[in-house]
Amino acid sequence: LKFHPERNYIIYHNNIEKSVRRELEIEENIVSAIENNEFQVYFQPQIDSNTETINGLEALIRWNNTTLGNVSPMEFIPLAEEKGIINKIDMWVVEEVARLTKKLGLHEQKGIKISINLSANDFKNDFLVEDVVAILDFHGLDHNQFEVELTEGTLISDHEYVSTKLEEFKSYGITVAIDDFGTGFSSMSYLKKLNFDKLKIDRSFIKDYPKMDNGSIAEVISYLAQKLKVNLIAEGVETVEQLKYLQSIGCVNIQGYYYSKPLSEKELKIYLKEHFEK
Ligand code: C2E
Ligand code: CA
Ligand code: CA
Ligand code: CA
Repeated sequence: LKFHPERNYIIYHNNIEKSVRRELEIEENIVSAIENNEFQVYFQPQIDSNTETINGLEALIRWNNTTLGNVSPMEFIPLAEEKGIINKIDMWVVEEVARLTKKLGLHEQKGIKISINLSANDFKNDFLVEDVVAILDFHGLDHNQFEVELTEGTLISDHEYVSTKLEEFKSYGITVAIDDFGTGFSSMSYLKKLNFDKLKIDRSFIKDYPKMDNGSIAEVISYLAQKLKVNLIAEGVETVEQLKYLQSIGCVNIQGYYYSKPLSEKELKIYLKEHFEK
């Protein structure tokens, strides 16, 4: 096989050009995505694996654009943050979650906690907490049924600022989960100072179990949750081996494909029927 540097360069160049063009297209299209009704909210069940009952639903945004097709949140959320429109999108999610909570009758299932992802940028909005609360109140929903998820990275970004808002959420009865836990670098001393209710073990710590044992980190997080007296859940659980392992280290709450993928409104309706009308 002969190496053609100039040909390789062209391929390389074309790929970069392609990804830059896609990024530009995403940026261009995302500003009008709300008005064009292109977003949807999916819900992924969270299961108490001891009783095999559902005790939570995580709201996850989905975007379908006519030219771009389905775009993953991992691709467009960072761009929405750069463009300064993530707050608008996240408030749209809160509104849609509130609407669907009523429509699907979830407000009558008090054992189900509904969680919503917030981005670090959302915390720059002085009225973040008021905005969320106003939406829930408008729909007549119980604050206690809702939880916000923020990543460990968000906590670190601007400690004082974020911790004040966490207190505010808590004062309204909205609980707080720390997402992707273990991927940031928060110190123990300030974890103790922060008022939160739940740790979510990141998928990266269980994804290769048992092939590669990243398990010890999950075990440390489980121990930490016990010591801090907060709830614990593992995300990205796909296999029965992973499930058994997590149970063995004291993590009973499970979210992942093993139980269910994120579900559309239609799919969730069927799922709930199957699980509540037995
Ligand atoms: P996340 O909050 O860590 O959400 C979990 C991600 O893992 C979701 O990806 C979910 O579909 C996926 N997942 C769940 N179970 C499994 C599993 O068993 N195996 C595998 N391989 N994946 C699993 P998704 O929906 O693509 O979301 C990606 C990220 O985008 C989320 O990560 C979250 O950080 C962000 N995101 C999603 N929705 C929103 C939103 O409404 N607002 C904000 N600010 N961010 C959001
Ligand atoms: Ca999350
Ligand atoms: Ca997560
Ligand atoms: Ca994650």
